[in-house]
Amino acid sequence: MIYSANDLKQFFKNVVEMIEDKKDYLSELDRKLGDGDHGVTMSIGWQAVNEQLDSDLKDEEDCTKISMAVARTFLSAVGSSVGPLYATGLLRGAKIAGNKSELNDSDLVNYWAAFVDGVKERGGAEVGDKTMMDTLIPFSETLKKQFTETGEASLAFESAVEAAKQGMESTKDLLSKKGRSSRLGERSKGAIDPGAASAYLILSIFLDSIKS
Ligand code: ADP
Ligand code: MG
Ligand code: MG
Repeated sequence: MIYSANDLKQFFKNVVEMIEDKKDYLSELDRKLGDGDHGVTMSIGWQAVNEQLDSDLKDEEDCTKISMAVARTFLSAVGSSVGPLYATGLLRGAKIAGNKSELNDSDLVNYWAAFVDGVKERGGAEVGDKTMMDTLIPFSETLKKQFTETGEASLAFESAVEAAKQGMESTKDLLSKKGRSSRLGERSKGAIDPGAASAYLILSIFLDSIKS
């Protein structure tokens, strides 16, 4: 597979659109667990990214520069927990992209593995803490395993997004151990974690982008 700088920019554009679409749903999930702003914070961040995609990044062909710029813009626009988490992930991915204008199968697998490692190091959450890591870790583990075993990136991403979905759904019955919602104790059970939900949605948008 060849994933061009334009494909990467189009993926980010599709994320912008999806977040606008799911904004109320994500805030609704956060109302049950946190301060009700997850849809709004994601929207603010991705709208800032959108503006940059239409201006500074319009003719940019370097996947490293694109991912770095998206990371920095998201970080400065977003005031909540997800700002530094996504920014770290995107910066780690940027490094993997090696200033290329086209990414191949292993670049894409390594990009997402580095993204997940970055978020994990930054936030310090593990599987079972009821955060976006419950989506991201199974995704990354399945992606690496399937790609090593089969060498088929698109199939590996397909299984990985399925694992991400199960991970997201698993947060419903978990007790929150990180972030704002951890203060709720037992009351944090019964709702999907908003960050786990948005992470799954972003990964499924990526899967769509490699299928089309
Ligand atoms: P805030 O909690 O500051 O209002 P958001 O509502 O935008 O931020 O995002 C909340 C989401 O951030 C949570 O649902 C959770 O998935 C994620 N999150 C919070 N802290 C961490 C962490 N330490 N590691 C990973 N994800 C985290
Ligand atoms: Mg919140
Ligand atoms: Mg908040």
